[in-house]
Amino acid sequence: MRMSKMLLPTLREVPADAEITSHQLMLRAGMIKKMASGVYNQLPMGIRVFRKIENIIREELEAKGCQEILCSALIPSELWKESGRWIAMGEEMFRLKDRNERDYCLGPTHEEVFTDIIRQEISSYKQLPLNLYQIQVKYRDERRPRFGVMRTKSFTMKDAYSFDVDEAGLDKSYQDMYEAYTNIFARCDLNNRPVEADSGAIGGSTSAEFMVKSEVGEDEIVFCDSCSYAVNMEKAVSESIIPEKEEMKELNPVHTPGVVTIADLEKFLDVKANKLAKTLIYEADGKTVVVVVRGDREVNEVKVCNAIGEVVEFDLAREEIVKQVTGAAVGFAGPIGIKADYVFIDKEVANQNNIGVGGNKTDYHIKNANYGRDFDGIVGDFRNVQEGDKCSCGGSLEIARGVEVGHIFKLGTKYSKSMGATYIDKEGKEKPIVMGCYGIGVERTAAAIIEQHNDENGISWPLSVAPYHVVVVPVNMKKEEHIEAAEKIYNELNNMGVEVLLDDRDERVGVKFKDSELIGIPMRITIGKDISEGQVEFKLRNSEEKELIKLEDIKDRVK
Ligand code: ATP
Ligand code: MG
Ligand code: MG
Ligand code: MG
Repeated sequence: MRMSKMLLPTLREVPADAEITSHQLMLRAGMIKKMASGVYNQLPMGIRVFRKIENIIREELEAKGCQEILCSALIPSELWKESGRWIAMGEEMFRLKDRNERDYCLGPTHEEVFTDIIRQEISSYKQLPLNLYQIQVKYRDERRPRFGVMRTKSFTMKDAYSFDVDEAGLDKSYQDMYEAYTNIFARCDLNNRPVEADSGAIGGSTSAEFMVKSEVGEDEIVFCDSCSYAVNMEKAVSESIIPEKEEMKELNPVHTPGVVTIADLEKFLDVKANKLAKTLIYEADGKTVVVVVRGDREVNEVKVCNAIGEVVEFDLAREEIVKQVTGAAVGFAGPIGIKADYVFIDKEVANQNNIGVGGNKTDYHIKNANYGRDFDGIVGDFRNVQEGDKCSCGGSLEIARGVEVGHIFKLGTKYSKSMGATYIDKEGKEKPIVMGCYGIGVERTAAAIIEQHNDENGISWPLSVAPYHVVVVPVNMKKEEHIEAAEKIYNELNNMGVEVLLDDRDERVGVKFKDSELIGIPMRITIGKDISEGQVEFKLRNSEEKELIKLEDIKDRVK
């Protein structure tokens, strides 16, 4: 590409409203352009990087046998009503009506859509397993869009969905995706770490977030220096508060399966904005009651919902809650993979049901607990994990900030049951399909790469995702021999299939060097006075060293 013909609005100054390095550098390198809060357009230099990431994702997923499809972002409300998420998705979902007043949304995620396709097409175990994915724009009305493309209202996501006959199949699909993600982020040269995003609770429901360690990360991760323990802080609250009792592997979910998950409710109730917020849920009189507590120790806001997440009551006084919600802290996972960090259960319900309580750790739950008899207190019993806390292995816990670039999740039969996606097994029995879902944010991944690959002069792209591999720079645009040689090298490299830029702009060489460093092109070939000897200067973006090389050696260097 000739830079003279390119839409490449590079900026010298750091844009005032860009707080973090990747945001500043994406704007300065002319990759993206803001249109509104949380809404960005992608310019030529940006889209090339995003495409590179997408193609790495494609290659690694196809290597695991996944197949690409593309679904509509415009989704009729009916599908969401079937799964129970039309209400539960709350304000994060963009909703709209057509001319006939029918409701639609712009998809924030596509579990319902993929399940709908599968229930129509799949009828026999012979057609399974399947793993379908798409790379498509998602829409989320984020409460706080920020940090450039790290958190936007519309972003490109790779979302994949696996469909298996049983849990063992799902385990394999999940493991495949775990490996694919590991490969994808390694190829993006991202120093990352998968962490447990789940409570690790019972029921076989598992979820892992791929976290890129970074000071600008919005998540906190907790990990042990001497074992493999690594979890999201949200899930890592202290596990030592409830005395260890009889171990428990199965719990009765206390709310209606298939209707709404804690994650859904959290979204609906918008408690995630406050990291210390807790979602509390219990069932009484046939209703699933959710109590949302904001603040670490102080209960100062409460919402009560019914089973589909509709708020039915507001603003209970603190004393009321303490009186009514004399429940247990439960990390539980129902048969559909529902998980709750804390469930406070009405005393009566707690006494009637086989209630489990415990920490957010596998096999760390106790059965049949009663408030007063087995434990005391409510929110104040929990605290965030602190640096240096002891891990169960005896090691010491560390805390770091991370950016969530990917998330893989065992869904189980939540969507297949509520939406009727079944198959006929070998014995002729009808069974729900067992599902998993797997997401990666494309632009956020690019931003995370920049966070880890930059210096005072700009971006330093890993070769695998660089928008171009080589930039050819003629020193003096007034010198015919510089221009001629540069053109020749540019054409030859192009013909070889090397992705090359020719900086044929009528600019001083200093400006060209600055731009090539800012946009982060891994290799630079400068054509100056030494061309008379058949030599050019070769420089790598991530090294200070400049080297004179012979024209005929260029090919070998840029391979
Ligand atoms: P977060 O916790 O940051 O809000 P999420 O858990 O809601 O993310 P998922 O639903 O797991 O996100 O979506 C899969 C991936 O999509 C995330 O891991 C992330 O890379 C990306 N992603 C999610 N929300 C956004 C957003 N608003 N802007 C850009 N990328 C996003
Ligand atoms: Mg989110
Ligand atoms: Mg998240
Ligand atoms: Mg996530």
